[in-house]
Amino acid sequence: MRYAHEDLAYIADQTGYDCHLCHQPIKFEEYGNHSHAEGWEVDHVRPRSKNGHNGFTNLRAAHAHCNRKKGNKPNRKIRSYFGVKGMPPSTTSRVLKGAGYVLLGIGAIWALNEIFKPKPGVHQPRLNSN
Ligand SMILES: [Zn+2]
Repeated sequence: MRYAHEDLAYIADQTGYDCHLCHQPIKFEEYGNHSHAEGWEVDHVRPRSKNGHNGFTNLRAAHAHCNRKKGNKPNRKIRSYFGVKGMPPSTTSRVLKGAGYVLLGIGAIWALNEIFKPKPGVHQPRLNSN
């Protein structure tokens, strides 16, 4: 099956450009290159042989070699072989998580500023009264 470039980008985005089986990065430009270590292909989560459909919810990026290893085994089994669970997070959820950390950081800096800011009248330079 051939996919349009934007379909491949969408599929790769769903797992944050990681292989959905081993959670290691795929190299987007190496789509279909089976001899490249980060070469990848589109895996049918539910295989076509078991009536798996061609909709995006059934399509995930997988290294060619991981997909070979998976064969007809369930995803759970091959993921536990790699010591991972579930799907890698999508690009969108990674960005949102990153933004959350940035906001948390800004909040922490603001709080520290509030705590350590000089209190009025305490450390003011004294005016000479002569
Ligand atoms: Zn992989």
